[in-house]
Amino acid sequence: MEETRKILMLGCDQQDYGALCKLLSQTGISVEVSVVNQQKSADALDPFLHGTAYDCIFLNHHLPKHDAFAIIEQLQSLAITIPIVIIIDEDNQQDATQLINSGAIEYIRKSELSSTILTKILRLCIRLGDAEKKVAQMMHKLQESNESLKCQNQELAAQKQLIRLQKLKLLEVSQLKSQFLATISHELRTPMNAVIGFAQLLLRPNFQTLTLQQTDMVERILNNGKHLLMLLNEILEFSGLENGDISLKPEVFDLSQLIDTTVAEFRSLADEKHLSIIVRNHLQNHVVFNDKRKISQVLTNLLSNATKFTESGYIWVEIDELPDNRVAIAVQDTGIGIAPQDINSIFEPFWQVDQTTSRKYGGMGLGLAIAHSLVKIMCGQITATSQLGEGSMFRVELPRQILTPNSHHINDSYGSKIMDPVKKRLLL
Ligand code: ADP
Repeated sequence: MEETRKILMLGCDQQDYGALCKLLSQTGISVEVSVVNQQKSADALDPFLHGTAYDCIFLNHHLPKHDAFAIIEQLQSLAITIPIVIIIDEDNQQDATQLINSGAIEYIRKSELSSTILTKILRLCIRLGDAEKKVAQMMHKLQESNESLKCQNQELAAQKQLIRLQKLKLLEVSQLKSQFLATISHELRTPMNAVIGFAQLLLRPNFQTLTLQQTDMVERILNNGKHLLMLLNEILEFSGLENGDISLKPEVFDLSQLIDTTVAEFRSLADEKHLSIIVRNHLQNHVVFNDKRKISQVLTNLLSNATKFTESGYIWVEIDELPDNRVAIAVQDTGIGIAPQDINSIFEPFWQVDQTTSRKYGGMGLGLAIAHSLVKIMCGQITATSQLGEGSMFRVELPRQILTPNSHHINDSYGSKIMDPVKKRLLL
């Protein structure tokens, strides 16, 4: 059943009211009519209009005290959007047009009042009113979601601020940690150098006074001192990298020669463990312009791990040319390998597969973190592949020629040397 529509008649006299009610009853639309008599002022309408949701207002233009304009204006100022239909006398056509311009939706001449016209107008009012209600509901919903978005926005901003503060705190802590590591390792290096120096002094041939047992003891002091110094240097290097204190010092050098020299340093250690180190060098052009010390350091860290974590088999070092003027250095071993769940963590500082204090292999978990940072500084990349129990392979890719603000100049300054087209020894 169609819902009953509420109609308010303003300023209608008894006669108009009777005629309108009669016609309305013939429209087939269920209506409930309220009347406000002619004496009501515009202000007095306020509580009246706020109480009920009217579908339509029939406003008699011919109000004795307050004209229809004032009523429309007041309704608008109260944000009341009920469709208003003006009932006019014959002679007020001009006013009717102005009232439409002011906000009424339609006018009807008293002489033209009929159930058909009223039905049409009422339907129009109902449609308009319903649309208005829908718009209001949507606006309300929009406002609600706007409010909740505002709240979410505020929450996000607060969280952002919190994250920013936490980040700053973390940064501060990390800087303090690096600072602490740098200070400690630096302070410990001086006495350690003294220990090593005096142990070396005692082992000199002119110190004939030492017995065999004493010599053995001093040798142990020396070896342990060197090991400790190596660890201190590692910490110092790491804190320097973290603080961004390490800069590139590129130079032109023979990469194959550097690899041979670095590998040679591990031969005796490998021999002790009965491991063979095999080098396969596929470089056509051995010359690179890069940071020699950093490449040596990276290779040293990889070879040190390969020797440490391999009990039998071999260590394989392979150097290759790559497209785009890049070179690859791979260090492969037949050692204990790394489990898939651990492989992504190995480049993190202080991370070790075995974190227990009773672990078999020594070290601080810094070697790969340092290698990773150094390779990054040199615009290269380092990757690891491994199979538990089978072995691991670390592969470093580096640009043959590192780009620095002066690299053009450096390249040019080697122009005269770069030239041996047959040997290509110095060609970058
Ligand atoms: P450290 O060797 O001092 O522990 P690294 O940063 O060099 O620190 O290596 C981190 C960890 O990665 C090692 O503790 C080890 O668990 C694992 N790892 C690194 N290299 C190898 C390798 N060649 N074979 C097996 N495990 C390795």
